[in-house]
Amino acid sequence: MSFYEVLQCYRDFDFDGFFAAVTEADVMRVLAKERRGERDLLVLLSPRAADFLEPMARAAQQLTVQYFGRTIQLFIPLYIANHCANQCLYCGFNRSHAIGRRKLSLEEIAAEGRAIAATGMRHLLVLTGEAPEVTPMDYIEAALALLKQYFASVAIEMFPMATEAYRRLKAVGVDGLTLYQEVYDEAVYRRVHQAGPKTDYRFRLDAPERGARAGFRAVNIGPLLGLGKKRREVFFAGLHARYLDDRYLATEVGLSLPRINPAEGGFQPLHPVSDREFVQFLLALRLFLPRAGITVSTRERAAFRDRLVPLGVTRLSAGSCTGVGGYAAPERRETPQFEIADQRAVALVAQAIAAQGYQPVCKDWDSIG
Ligand code: SF4
Repeated sequence: MSFYEVLQCYRDFDFDGFFAAVTEADVMRVLAKERRGERDLLVLLSPRAADFLEPMARAAQQLTVQYFGRTIQLFIPLYIANHCANQCLYCGFNRSHAIGRRKLSLEEIAAEGRAIAATGMRHLLVLTGEAPEVTPMDYIEAALALLKQYFASVAIEMFPMATEAYRRLKAVGVDGLTLYQEVYDEAVYRRVHQAGPKTDYRFRLDAPERGARAGFRAVNIGPLLGLGKKRREVFFAGLHARYLDDRYLATEVGLSLPRINPAEGGFQPLHPVSDREFVQFLLALRLFLPRAGITVSTRERAAFRDRLVPLGVTRLSAGSCTGVGGYAAPERRETPQFEIADQRAVALVAQAIAAQGYQPVCKDWDSIG
């Protein structure tokens, strides 16, 4: 069985009818539970539950402190190339955009690693587009092995790979995988991914499971909010996380709810998500998945991210640059993948976390040997 079969169970489900029938009593009943099931998650995602954000926030905070303490882990993304064979309508690196393309040399990657390590960050997320002819597996493997010298934890956010490729990367020290399905609705997926290997919906959907099978310590998934119908997208992401969590006990399963930001090409979200809805979705996921890490990236504004700290978040990116080579050479910050809303330096993000009584953590894990 794969998660695809779980999705198929909801193919004819009447989401709109379910949401319209949710009552206040249903929401209160779900809030009173200790363990919440699939239908409970739907209740918490319903428009009716939007009137219960305060009790949801109290319960989410309590659960998060119980499982994670008052800590927020920090990480930083590093783009090593922006070549890409795919045509994702919402992305600045889309192959149809006439932008400057760059691929860092190993020397440049080492310079980026040193510049980031100097900020105190020890958890790195490495990204690249999908361009096997320009950035083949050997290049990616060498880049990651090099970066591992500077960081306690190196994770990847790259195109989906076969289990064997994930094993290869694990062998050079990669310990985590972030892979967003972007949109669980298969019809919308086909519409917004117009060319390239990423058009293979199933290969992408099953990739987090292949990563867990390959032995990655952490696997992080999520929808790109704005593409599909929002409540059902968050619902499917929640189910996907529980599916993985139930089967791969040695893997920490995490979630993220990135919202579409402006990028080259001017794509507009098909289903915009308000701040209030974002908070509701985050709280609903925490109540459904008490042990899941929840990440909020610098796509969100600084003041908004600060307000989210006590509401169930466990990881924040900080000091991010989504241009290629922009840490060691800031003049290279041209044409990012998307616009960054929170542009604060690492130290300022850490200060804002500490000001709320939480501990910012730059390193909470190390590999043995
Ligand atoms: S989202 Fe990823 S795969 Fe799609 S165009 Fe951008 S870099 Fe390429």
